[in-house]
Amino acid sequence: MKRRLAVIGAGPSGLAQLRAFQSAASKGADIPEIVCFEKQANWGGLWNYTWRTGLDQYGEPVHGSMYRYLWSNGPKENLSWLSEMHARTRYDTTTH
Ligand SMILES: Cc1cc2nc3c(=O)[nH]c(=O)nc-3n(C[C@H](O)[C@H](O)[C@H](O)COP(=O)(O)OP(=O)(O)OC[C@H]3O[C@@H](n4cnc5c(N)ncnc54)[C@H](O)[C@@H]3O)c2cc1C
Repeated sequence: MKRRLAVIGAGPSGLAQLRAFQSAASKGADIPEIVCFEKQANWGGLWNYTWRTGLDQYGEPVHGSMYRYLWSNGPKENLSWLSEMHARTRYDTTTH
């Protein structure tokens, strides 16, 4: 029987888990059947940018801490998978 696995939350930690399983599967590993549960409308956890503050459209507290013109002061190489979007930017740092 196929093992089943639940990832609670699609913030950076949950997304890293999903990515690791995807990477293992692409190399032929037998991975479990995975379901990720996220209570916000979108993934990203604290990095999920929304204009909303207080409660969201479902009455849940807005979890994110990002704001429109936020720039991280860390190098983009430490904040992204190099194959993903930040690798395409020309800046050393990144926005939300
Ligand atoms: C203002 C600020 C600036 C930061 N700057 C940096 C930085 O520059 N560089 C850096 O590396 N880190 C930074 N951090 C830290 C970084 O954001 C956190 O370490 C990271 O978000 C933690 O990821 P996480 O997935 O563990 O948790 P979270 O990002 O909190 O994600 C958890 C997710 O789980 C969901 N969830 C929770 N409970 C449930 C449930 N019962 N069912 C379904 N879903 C659920 C939430 O909605 C959320 O999407 C910063 C944090 C803050 C607040």
